[in-house]
This record gives sequence, structure tokens and C-alpha cells, in this order.
Amino acid sequence: GETTKPPPTPSPLRNSKFFQANLRILVTGGAGFIGSHLVDKLMENEKNEVIVADNFFTGSKDNLRKWIGHPRFELIRHDVTEPLLVEVDQIYHLACPASPIFYKYNPVKTIKTNVIGTLNMLGLAKRVGARILLTSTSEVYGDPLEHPQKEEYWGNVNPIGVRSCYDEGKRVAETLMFDYHRQHGLEIRIARIFNTYGPRMNIDDGRVVSNFIAQALRGESLTVQAPGTQTRSFCYVSDMVDGLIRLMGGDNTGPINIGNPGEFTMMELAETVKELIDPSVEVKIVENTPDDPRQRKPDITKAKQLLGWEPKVILREGLPLMEEDFRLRLGVQKK
Ligand code: NAD
Ligand code: UDP
Ligand code: UDP
Repeated sequence: GETTKPPPTPSPLRNSKFFQANLRILVTGGAGFIGSHLVDKLMENEKNEVIVADNFFTGSKDNLRKWIGHPRFELIRHDVTEPLLVEVDQIYHLACPASPIFYKYNPVKTIKTNVIGTLNMLGLAKRVGARILLTSTSEVYGDPLEHPQKEEYWGNVNPIGVRSCYDEGKRVAETLMFDYHRQHGLEIRIARIFNTYGPRMNIDDGRVVSNFIAQALRGESLTVQAPGTQTRSFCYVSDMVDGLIRLMGGDNTGPINIGNPGEFTMMELAETVKELIDPSVEVKIVENTPDDPRQRKPDITKAKQLLGWEPKVILREGLPLMEEDFRLRLGVQKK
């Protein structure tokens, strides 16, 4: 027998249309903000074939236009609350509106998306033996009594509030993930995502970074919701996508916090946006919404140790990249 094999020569099939990609990946919610950036990154790898399933509630085909028609890409209009039959190796399950104004718009639908949608994707993962990653949220910590938030913290969530369709929905989704893991041996990954920002966010989706940038570009006052001392930690989308891919590829189920630990008050954020975009705009205090968490900052020790991941883009670098995208979409030139 042969003991030393020559290095494999690339098969001529590899570059032909008959070549079967190594990994077929389903991204639910792939037409949305984070999902479309994730698709861009996954498509960079020529061994990946990507299928997006999205109902276009908050996402759009426009976010994926560069991939439409690509031989390794497929877009399906599909609502995850309905069963889905596809054959895949990995599932990134993102489908769910993330902005409070959209998830509160039809709260019953939001909870169905989180519960029935996740159940269906787990049923699919079980049938085909796929690894499945859920994008959970820092909202599972509610209005946290521990700061910063570690993964072991169980949270302080109002079960009957206006945010519950989202945060309790994600908590059930996490429970389902772990029950399928324990009961059926599924390979699961759970990311707890903290506030993420970047190009392609919906301009009028009501989230703070998109609001402030759009307001500054339109010359409107920046609306800081009272008291303005509440804090958030903002992660640039390329760092987020990198974290999600590492989590999927690694050996740890999670839950793992993925976010940028840099913490800012909403007043500081407003001042930063004002300084970067238009020092002449005003900052005004407006009424807040119920159950607004007062502080939020991830403890990312686990992500560092288990995934070798930490964010690279600081807020002052990320904001101008988002400004550029918003200028194009709003048609506002730089003065
Ligand atoms: P997004 O609203 O831009 O994207 C969500 C996508 O899911 C959209 O394309 C939407 O059309 C699709 N969708 C919604 N309901 C669906 C359904 N029933 N069936 C099929 N598709 C459906 O939001 P995003 O910011 O990209 O968030 C992506 C994921 O990350 C969500 O699961 C969200 O909960 C989570 N997350 C985001 C943040 C953040 O700051 N952006 C923070 C924490 C968690
Ligand atoms: N499911 C799906 N695609 C599949 C397999 C299952 O959407 O390829 C759905 C299925 O319709 C069910 C859910 O996933 O509602 C859970 O499936 P599972 O097999 O775990 O449970 P069961 O069907 O036994 O209730
Ligand atoms: N916020 C604000 N002005 C706005 C929109 C939001 O001051 O125009 C505040 C809001 O009260 C909250 C923080 O910004 O304290 C983050 O809100 P967002 O809706 O972006 O995300 P989430 O509450 O889900 O973290």
C-alpha cells in the first residue's frame, strides 16, 4: 500500500457547475439588518451555499440585491411560523423583528415568531441533523439588577409588559433550544446579542442610533428619551457577524453574550452624534416608553475565552460608516 499520498490535486469539478458546495446554510431573517451582513460574510466563502427564508416584515430584498441570481444563493419568501422543508447543514435562526416599534406593532405575531418559528426551525434541524444557532437578546436580562450582565444571570423581566412578546418570547426560544438539545441531542448555539448598529438599519425603525443619525442629517432635534442617563452598549455589525460565525463554528452551546462593552448614556450618544454630524442641531428630552431598561452592558469574558472574540470597531469609528450609508439613502450630501 501507499503510505505517503501526494497532495490532492484540485478536482476539475470544483470549478464546474457540478461542484457540490461543502456547506448549505439556512439564514432565517436573512433579509434584515444583521442577517444581510451575515449573508455577505457567508457568501465570501466559496464553499458555502446560502438559503435565506424571510417574510420581509422588517427586511427587504434590497439588502440582498447583490446576491440575487448568484448560483450559490437562494431567497425564499417564507414565514417561519409555517413549517419549512429544506435540506441544510447549518441554520442561523434570526427571523424576528428587533426594533421595539416593530415588535410591539403586532405583539401576538412577535410571540408566534419567537415560539412557533423557533419550534419549526428546531423540528427542521432535528429532521436533517443540522446545527442551529439562535440570535437571542440582551433583553432576556430585562431591567437587570446585575451589572454588567453575565450569562449566568437569570434576568429581571416583566412577564406581562409591552416588551414581553419579545423578551419572554426569546426566553421561551432559548428554553426550546435547550430542550431539543437535551431531549433530542441537537447541536445548538445561543448568542445573546446586545444593541447592534451599522449600515442597512431601517432609517425610521425607532432605535436610538438610527434615530439620532437620521435626525442629525435632517437637521432635526435629537430626541433623548427621559432621563437620558440610561445606558446602552453598541456593537458594530461587522463585529457582531464575526462573533456569530465563530459561535456557530465552535464547540460551545452558549448562551454567550456578544456585544461591545463600551457603555454610553443616551445623552452622551446624542452629544457624540451631534459633534460628528452637525454641531448646530439641538438635543431635546422627550417622554420615554414603559419598562425601558436603565442600564445594559455585556460581560464578554466568555466570548473572549471560548470564541477568542472581542469587538474591534469603537463607536467613534462605527458611527461615520453608518452616517455614510444614511446619507446615501436619505440623499443628504456632506457639507
Ligand atoms: P431586522 O428586523 O432587521 O431583521 C429581522 C428579519 O426577520 C427581517 O428581515 C424580517 O423581515 C424577518 N422576519 C421577521 N419575522 C419573520 C417571520 N415570522 N418569518 C420570517 N422572517 C421574519 O432585525 P435585526 O436587527 O437584523 O435582528 C436580527 C436578529 O437579531 C433578531 O432575532 C433579533 O431579535 C436579534 N437581535 C438584534 C439586536 C439588534 O440590536 N439589532 C439585538 C438583540 C437581538
Ligand atoms: N418542522 C419543519 N420542518 C421540518 C421538520 C419539522 O418546519 O423539516 C416543524 C414541524 O412542522 C413541527 C415542528 O417543526 O411543527 C417541530 O417538529 P418536531 O418533529 O420536533 O415535532 P412534532 O412534529 O413531532 O410535533
Ligand atoms: N432612545 C432615545 N431616543 C430615541 C430612541 C431611543 O433616547 O429616539 C433610548 C431608549 O429610551 C432606550 C435606548 O435609547 O433607553 C435604546 O433604545 P432602542 O429602542 O434603540 O433599543 P433597546 O431599548 O431595545 O435597547
